[in-house]
Amino acid sequence: MATSTKAYGVKSEKDNLKPMDIQRRDVGDDDVKIDITYCGVCHSDIHTARNEWGGSTYPVVPGHEIIGHVTSVGKNVKNFKEGDVVGVGCMVDSCQECAQCKNNLEQFCEKGATFTYNSEDKHIKGQQTFGGYSTSVVVNQEFILNIPKNLDEAGAAPLLCAGITTWSPLSNWNVNKGDKVGVIGLGGLGHMGVKFANALGAHVVMITTSPSKAEDAKKLGAHEVLISKNEEEMAKHNGTFDFILNTIPVGHKMDPYIGLLKVDATMVLVGAIEPLEPFNGGGIIMGRKRIAGSLIGGIKETQEMLDFCGKHNIVSDIELIDIKYINDAYERVIKADVKYRFVIDMASLKN
Ligand code: NAP
Ligand code: ZN
Repeated sequence: MATSTKAYGVKSEKDNLKPMDIQRRDVGDDDVKIDITYCGVCHSDIHTARNEWGGSTYPVVPGHEIIGHVTSVGKNVKNFKEGDVVGVGCMVDSCQECAQCKNNLEQFCEKGATFTYNSEDKHIKGQQTFGGYSTSVVVNQEFILNIPKNLDEAGAAPLLCAGITTWSPLSNWNVNKGDKVGVIGLGGLGHMGVKFANALGAHVVMITTSPSKAEDAKKLGAHEVLISKNEEEMAKHNGTFDFILNTIPVGHKMDPYIGLLKVDATMVLVGAIEPLEPFNGGGIIMGRKRIAGSLIGGIKETQEMLDFCGKHNIVSDIELIDIKYINDAYERVIKADVKYRFVIDMASLKN
């Protein structure tokens, strides 16, 4: 059994987002049903809607920065009750049994995690999962996050993807007080990276292609701003960074950024899930530098990030939009013109 639910999605890669009806499963014993109040707009939503990574199955209903209120729970659910403010991020299920799941790394589930959208739906045969551009969702209790009460609900939505995706590498590479940390790209992910690196006590350098964002970068917590197109400025910072978080959403020239790293330092890629331009091996051999990658974060780590945000009062800087504005919002994200995350007010889909 399933319930027809309002959503916004695309029927093909060339389509604009439009209203559509989707099916949500009935609440099972381990499930939580959520009335969605806000959903963030991640660049991954655009990549998937437009099939830029290949493998999109249509229709696509994007959205994996979901905030909402619990409306009902299954009989095995003990930790959530009606009325709770909760979040759902990029995953809605995994096997819970393999070594990766047992190690709290559900995103690397050996049987394949079920992502919030565009994964095979294990409950409704022949359908893929549909994301948060929708009025409600039903999710297994293990994938529901608690949202600290002091956080603004709309501002908290982007924490579910942009937040955890930047928190996880900063935490795993032990970014510490006094480290010189670069964050490349001031968009949804980048602005959270700046906030977190600042809160961890690092010396934060915003590395951007957009001189117009310099003032904002400082307000967000950057101590310095480096314009990546300015070769002279870049050269002054060569060999000085302990860690760089690279959020550029497309393939790009790596050598200028590799040059910024100190001996033994690491640059973690989270953005370019596609071929990179060839780079000079000498750039990493000289200096024993490392290039690594990182994918969102596990559920336990996501809750830790949210609790940190609650303690330090950290939310995303957002532009709250009506769902009818979503296609314009996509165009603005692509032009790197978002301050610094669009969040859909889901009341606009309910009315
Ligand atoms: P976004 O809001 O569009 O921000 C990306 C920023 O990168 C832009 O604002 C721009 O900042 C900079 N940029 C854009 N094109 C560039 C280019 N060609 N060269 C250099 N800089 C460029 O995107 P987002 O939502 O933060 O997502 C960033 C990427 O991470 C996307 O590809 C997304 O799919 C991916 N992602 C990965 C994970 C993961 O788990 N690994 C999770 C979520 C998202 P400036 O104007 O400051 O230069
Ligand atoms: Zn995302």
